[in-house]
Amino acid sequence: MRSLVAGNWKMNGLAASLAELESLKAALAAAAPACEVLVCPPFTLLAQAAAVCGVALGGQDCSPRDGGAFTGDISAAMLKDAGASSVIVGHSERRQIHGERDSDVAAKAQAAWRAGLSAIICVGETEAQRDAGNAHGICSGQLDASVPDGATPQNTIIAYEPVWAIGTGKTPTLDDIKAMHAHIRSCLVTRLGEGARGIRLLYGGSVKPDNAADILNLPEVNGALVGGASLKASDFLGIIGAIKPA
Ligand code: PEP
Repeated sequence: MRSLVAGNWKMNGLAASLAELESLKAALAAAAPACEVLVCPPFTLLAQAAAVCGVALGGQDCSPRDGGAFTGDISAAMLKDAGASSVIVGHSERRQIHGERDSDVAAKAQAAWRAGLSAIICVGETEAQRDAGNAHGICSGQLDASVPDGATPQNTIIAYEPVWAIGTGKTPTLDDIKAMHAHIRSCLVTRLGEGARGIRLLYGGSVKPDNAADILNLPEVNGALVGGASLKASDFLGIIGAIKPA
């Protein structure tokens, strides 16, 4: 399976930020990466990014609905039309700030599939849940309820993002990441069958150029979802470069 390094720009980026994509494109053209690369800019930059971009593009969220009177919402088909091939759903910032439940996340993933996008479905525990010894149980519960039946390696990517590691500079130990990814793989295979061994499992949460090699070469870690360090092409390239050729 080819690893994926995905950048989530969150609510950052104006037209001037497309220069970072230009730099990324030039560097990747000069030295082919050992992984797939995806950038998820804000909705407003997607179409312009598609005009620049030598990398795949994704959205950061989508409506669970296909269209209609839902002011301010963006459908998966709109993302596809603007140049996206995938969309992040269930990011912890959406779960926490916008109150999204597992059922909302599952509906968004299904909307993504209907539009022909792959869904990057995020799961992860809070610090209190980890401290209470519930990290694995929380993530399996989220997987059960947020990953719809019908998930395949073509339409679904899972991102394990411990909430307490996002934007904090803190990361789980390598053993904890390894154990969680093995747990997620086992949950997916039990529920979806052997085909689920091909679903990519990304780690996300304070991945930086200096910790990327240790994290990204762990077993069952098939890439990264990167927030802050995806905003500068030089940092993002440092993470991409940490993936060893298969
Ligand atoms: C994220 O928001 O998905 C993320 C992983 O952020 P950061 O890399 O900044 O921790």
